[in-house]
Amino acid sequence: MKAVYFLGNRQIEIREVPDPTPGPGEVVLEIKASGMCGSDLKYYRSAGGADSIGLGRKSAAPVIAGHEPCGVVAECGPGVVGKLARVGTRVMCHHYAGCGCCRQCRTGWTQMCDDGSITFGANGDGAHARYMKVPVDSLIALPEALSFKAGAAISCGTGTAWGGLERLALRGSDTIAIFGQGPVGLSGTQLAAAMGARVIAIDVNTTRLERSAGFGADVRIDAAKDDVVAAILHETGGFGVDCAMDCTGLEDARSHAIRATGKWGRVVFLGEGGMVSIDVSNEMIRKQMTLSGSWTFSRNGQAECARFVASRKIDVDSLFTHAWPLEEAVEAYRLFDNQTMGKGVLIPA
Ligand SMILES: [Zn+2]
Ligand SMILES: [Zn+2]
Repeated sequence: MKAVYFLGNRQIEIREVPDPTPGPGEVVLEIKASGMCGSDLKYYRSAGGADSIGLGRKSAAPVIAGHEPCGVVAECGPGVVGKLARVGTRVMCHHYAGCGCCRQCRTGWTQMCDDGSITFGANGDGAHARYMKVPVDSLIALPEALSFKAGAAISCGTGTAWGGLERLALRGSDTIAIFGQGPVGLSGTQLAAAMGARVIAIDVNTTRLERSAGFGADVRIDAAKDDVVAAILHETGGFGVDCAMDCTGLEDARSHAIRATGKWGRVVFLGEGGMVSIDVSNEMIRKQMTLSGSWTFSRNGQAECARFVASRKIDVDSLFTHAWPLEEAVEAYRLFDNQTMGKGVLIPA
């Protein structure tokens, strides 16, 4: 099969490699859609490729890229049992592997395995290929109503937004400010609106901001032009938002999220990297603020997100602006790198 590798410094190689064979406890998926995520861009750009900035175990050699896998079960290894492990079943994959025995693995947070995790597409073979070998317990049912593309988005970007909203315990009566309207932030806007919340969307990119209206943003603030905190206070009668979610990883946006959140407010950081400084007394303690970090989602969280999207008929497919055959991965990532597109997906032939 053909498989996409990030070699570092924006170099991509499409290699011909043997089809994977499932071992005990493993299945091989035939990938129908393999999403492109912001983290892939980080891996693509870094000097050492994906593995150089992973948080888990180091891999000995470059791995197949892609960590938003969705497809059908193509082959089951020896001893594999379970309802999902049948050839032809439509599935997503929780894109991590752990020891399976520690407290984190047992609660479905495999990415936090005490023994060091493997992230597919970063330090273990990923989904930018026709076939992908995964542990059977990483399979998540793809509801019949959802497309493979939607399943791919839920496997990281949209699922990460879901995880953040869960951490905030968002209520329909809340007003939430969502910083960054790339694929994760835009998913957050779409999900929060479906949960009944009033959404204030913030971005520096006018195209992204305009798009957010169609995904349920009630108010849009252009951070390149406007005083974000003043605009949010204005929109909330001076009280500030009930909660805020940062999907940018940028210091300014994090600081605005904290300062624009009112008394008893909740803030969650999803965007990775970087720093922020906080006036702890005035901005946190005296406001009784809860500040959390949220890293993707658990296996159950991924399944719950998929069920919510299916039952509310949320159009996750519309996040995607571009689809490419696997062979065009070089062009796909070149364009993605410019950050002018929405979400992309690779479709193996
Ligand atoms: Zn573990
Ligand atoms: Zn991702």
